[in-house]
Amino acid sequence: MFLRLPVCPYCHAVYHYKEASDLKGKTETCYHCRKTFLIRRRGPQWLFLGMVSLCLIGIDVLIFFSSGNLGMSLLILTVLADVLCVTAAVWLLPLTIRLVPEKKKK
Ligand SMILES: [Zn+2]
Repeated sequence: MFLRLPVCPYCHAVYHYKEASDLKGKTETCYHCRKTFLIRRRGPQWLFLGMVSLCLIGIDVLIFFSSGNLGMSLLILTVLADVLCVTAAVWLLPLTIRLVPEKKKK
């Protein structure tokens, strides 16, 4: 599954949504077993959001040009739908975080 809550690589403690969105930076200490792990994100987050926005803008333009006189009111609706979609995408970002064990020192 692409989207799921991050899990500690050592003790498998599940990070809930609020905790996952608080995971900033590159390393973090597990709240449960106190071991240090690395935080990995699936690609740059701005790229993910950029792709979502571009797709939505493309759909809007298509709807706008294919709807004739209804264009303007439909456009407002689709923009509202876009805002909802982008908000949902931002909301899903913490679910793309993966935790990996810190590499042992040489
Ligand atoms: Zn742990």
